[in-house]
Amino acid sequence: MTSLEQTALMQLPKIDLHRHLEGSLRLSTLAEIAGRYRLDLPRDVATLRPLVQITASDPRTPRAFLDKFNVLRRFYLSPGIIRRLAFEAVEDAARDGVRYLELRFTPAALARTQGFALRDVISWVSAGAEDARRQYPEIDLALIVSVNRHEPVELAEQVVGLAVDRLREIAAIDLAGDEVNFPAEPFAGLFAEARRAGLGITAHAGEWSGPASVRHALERLGVQRIGHGVRVMESPDVVALARERGAVFEVCLTSNLDSGVAAGLALHPLPAMLAAGLRATLNTDDPGLSNCTLSGEYALAQMLPGFGSTELQSMVHEAATAAFHPERARHAVDALELV
Ligand SMILES: [Zn+2]
Repeated sequence: MTSLEQTALMQLPKIDLHRHLEGSLRLSTLAEIAGRYRLDLPRDVATLRPLVQITASDPRTPRAFLDKFNVLRRFYLSPGIIRRLAFEAVEDAARDGVRYLELRFTPAALARTQGFALRDVISWVSAGAEDARRQYPEIDLALIVSVNRHEPVELAEQVVGLAVDRLREIAAIDLAGDEVNFPAEPFAGLFAEARRAGLGITAHAGEWSGPASVRHALERLGVQRIGHGVRVMESPDVVALARERGAVFEVCLTSNLDSGVAAGLALHPLPAMLAAGLRATLNTDDPGLSNCTLSGEYALAQMLPGFGSTELQSMVHEAATAAFHPERARHAVDALELV
């Protein structure tokens, strides 16, 4: 990829539907916070990096991937920090040419370290995102709140209740967490309720667990969007179900490579998913943790077998259609000119 091609991909108006705030933290900011708060962590970027970012020496396993979040959790120290982290996450997206962003965050994770109230954490993230939207009017954004399947449904109920009070900023709820040991079933009632209250719904499925998890998300939770979902390809029946339902997959290439979901780029299921008639979008998941950008993900996608600018173009349009605010997303990428 020449630098000209890279610049063109950065300038391409893009949509990211799957990006976690907690995985979008700037290394330089983390080093600064570690110093200012005298955390028992390295205060220089080079030494801190392997603790909070996937590096070449990390095994490509879910465990190694998730361990980084245990370190990141130590940085959620004040209202000002949380607001700043949200601001920077949006700022980084805007600088990469993302024109419509659905930024998800896990209120319980941000609140836990210091015992903050869920309501407060949501308002700080919202304020930081709003600060960035004002400074970067070229980016439009909506927030998604994530709840973890390995945590009590009652906690998720509180988060949904608070989200419903802020429908102007919060577009949807997302089910995240330990997909292998915790089925989606207990959250079915809550997801139905969230939908009735006006929230969109999406769920991580078919990432670290197989196609049955995708089936559950579609049939029990009633989601139209699936976070990752790439393991759907292990079952022709679930592929058929997803195709019939018009489900949209939020695919994140680098994340799948970093966590070992795909053993290499050439083995990633994305081309097979498209060939099977599934709808898919390209997203970052955790740009800080994976040291990636959405333009970089587009560049990676272009290296996939049989994957050219036509596929790229249809995925941007797919993302606009699948957005929780489709009219806003479409408007944001209206000037779409493909390289
Ligand atoms: Zn995710």
